Amino acid sequence: MTAPCTSTSVPASRGPHVYASHALIGHKLALLRDRRTQPARFGQLLKEISLMLLSYATADLPVREARVITPVGPTVQKLLARRVGFAPILRAGAGMIPAAQELVPGAPIWYLGLYRDEETLQPVRYYDKIQEYPPIDIALILDPMLATGGSAVVAASRLKQKGVQKIVFVGLIAAPEGLALLSREHPDVEVHVAAVDERLNERGYIVPGLGDAGDRQNATGAHDPTHEPFHPEGV
Ligand code: URA
Repeated sequence: MTAPCTSTSVPASRGPHVYASHALIGHKLALLRDRRTQPARFGQLLKEISLMLLSYATADLPVREARVITPVGPTVQKLLARRVGFAPILRAGAGMIPAAQELVPGAPIWYLGLYRDEETLQPVRYYDKIQEYPPIDIALILDPMLATGGSAVVAASRLKQKGVQKIVFVGLIAAPEGLALLSREHPDVEVHVAAVDERLNERGYIVPGLGDAGDRQNATGAHDPTHEPFHPEGV
C-alpha cells in the first residue's frame, strides 16, 4: 500500500507521516473534531481512523518469505518477520486498542498509564505494564493526541529500556511542539498522524484539536466549556 501524502519509506528523522489529505481520513477527522459528536460516535470514528493509520504505519514492517500451499498449488509468500506489540497510553489511547487488535490479533498490549500534572504539564506515570515478556521487536505507541510530547517521550524511553528495537508512534493529531520534543529526544521514533495542528494553548490543549480525547470518549467532560450533557444514543 502507498501512503497518500508522504512516503512510508522516509526515515524517522525526516519528519512525520501525515495523512490529512487522504479523503476518508480527513472526512472522519472532521466529524471527530466536531464538538457535537457524542461519545459513542466519537469512539467509533476513533476506531475507524485508527484502523487506517495503523494500516499505513505497518506497511513497511519487515517480512520473510514463506512457502504456502494453496488448494491449487505451492507458492512463496511473505509473512511478518518480527514480533509486533502495542503500547497504548491511558486513558485516551485505550480507544485505539480495538483497531490494533483487529489488525494484529493476539499481539501483546502493554498499557502505560500517564496523566498530565495540571501545573507543570509534565507526565506522571501511575500504571506501567511495559515489560520484557513476551518479548516484542517492534512497538507501536498508541495515543490520539501528541500534545506536549512528554507522554510519548516517556513511553519511548520505557520501551527502549525493555529492549524494543523499533518504535512507531501512531496518533490522530499532533502539535508542532510535541513533534519537536519527540524528534529531539527520540529521533529514531517514526511518527504517523492524521493531522498536524497549529499549536498548543496555555493549558496544553492542541488548537484547534478536538478537546480532551479521553473525556470525549468517556463522556466525562463536565468541566469542558463546550460540553453538552450526555444523552444516550438510540434511547
Ligand atoms: N490531550 C488531549 O486529549 N487533547 C489535547 O488537546 C491535548 C492533550
